[in-house]
Amino acid sequence: MISIDRTRLAELTERESAAFIAARPKSKAAYERAEHLFGRVPMTWMNKKSGAFPIYLDRAQGNRVWDIDGHEYIDFALGDTGSMAGHSHPAVVEAVQRRIGELGGLTTMLPTEDAEWVGAELSRRFKMDRWSFSLTATDANRWAIRLVRAITGKSKIVFHSYCYHGSVDESLVVVGPDGESMPRPGNVGAPVPVTETSRAAEYNDLPGLERALAHGDVAAVLIEPALTNIGIVLPEPGYLEGVRELTRKYDALLIIDETHTFSAGPGGMTTAYDIEPDLVVIGKAIGGGIPTGAYGLSAEFAERALARTDLDLVDMGGVGGTLAGNPLSVAAMRATLEQVLTDEAFATMIDTATYFTDGVNALFDRYDLPWAINQLGARAEYRFARPYPKNGTEAAAAADAELEDFLHLYLANRGIMLTPFHNMALMAPMTTRADVDAHHTVFEAAIKELVGA
Ligand code: PMP
Repeated sequence: MISIDRTRLAELTERESAAFIAARPKSKAAYERAEHLFGRVPMTWMNKKSGAFPIYLDRAQGNRVWDIDGHEYIDFALGDTGSMAGHSHPAVVEAVQRRIGELGGLTTMLPTEDAEWVGAELSRRFKMDRWSFSLTATDANRWAIRLVRAITGKSKIVFHSYCYHGSVDESLVVVGPDGESMPRPGNVGAPVPVTETSRAAEYNDLPGLERALAHGDVAAVLIEPALTNIGIVLPEPGYLEGVRELTRKYDALLIIDETHTFSAGPGGMTTAYDIEPDLVVIGKAIGGGIPTGAYGLSAEFAERALARTDLDLVDMGGVGGTLAGNPLSVAAMRATLEQVLTDEAFATMIDTATYFTDGVNALFDRYDLPWAINQLGARAEYRFARPYPKNGTEAAAAADAELEDFLHLYLANRGIMLTPFHNMALMAPMTTRADVDAHHTVFEAAIKELVGA
């Protein structure tokens, strides 16, 4: 297999970087002017950029984004899943506008009838019987963790190494070189050493998970059924069934975070892989771009929680938030689930993603590249390793910031946007095969320059 000439890569990146800067004077000036923002950006993650400055958004519609310098992009990032429904889908806009304008009542702390519709639809899709809403998937995870701790009386949560579940303190844990759990490098301001609250196990490692559970102090295993925040790492046959068996053996609950794995189908991997969780967490995409999140509980777990009169579930006990479940995000969820991310839409999105994946695979073969791509329903992501890594630590080791920067810049300079955090491409319902062909043409040109073909 071919190896990448690093001198050539550096030269190409310099050329693409200069072209990126030259074509975006307005974004450059906006970034230079932004002196009152921490790190010059509204949120520090927006500094995850391949060029000298972020691309400043002008407007976005469907699967297209326009920057303030007038460039149009085919958007395969879709806000890292928040806009999986496409930007400003007319059905979502209509529901949101009705709530903002005609009806009014954005934040009242009063329920709307839409909420029960959304709960019922989430039950149909994700099996759980009772639902509660948040504004982010992070908060949904936090509240799920509090509930499982309270109900089981156990302290520890087990995660996969190199998972991501939002800025949840407990989850910033990895398996260290000695096989023991340790803080994830770079963790900002942990309240207590993370090993007091958490343990990590490698994905696809049932003996490792059993070691983490065998202490008998684990309230729940909180996992994405496939890792999606360090490439897409898929389950080996029997892994997910094994996780469920082990959690039952050690009397731990199973929380499935579907925030990204929702791409697998209308009911996420919970339904597509027939998982039997005790709780399900989801967020981002289900609001069509409006902030939201949700956690679902089995009827049995919900009853156990409600029966605990010592727990302050209705005031300041640590579960809930002032704007959670507000009429606007509930209306957006209803429109998104009812009219946009429907069962039929998933069939199209998955078909487009398969077309994307097949095309990328063909290019890797044609140019003999040591890279691989995995698909999970409507999303696909390549990694600079072949075969594809089997767990988080291997996937982290296959990161290549230089290559990633070059490819992101090359694509952006030619109107293709990939997710800055990943080499991930997500298909919205309106993404077409022609959009995918446009990506592949540019991607092939990038590869040709890289390998000198
Ligand atoms: N869970 C998973 C699996 C995620 O990928 C993310 C965000 N990428 C989150 C939770 C957190 O979502 P939010 O940023 O909405 O809190």
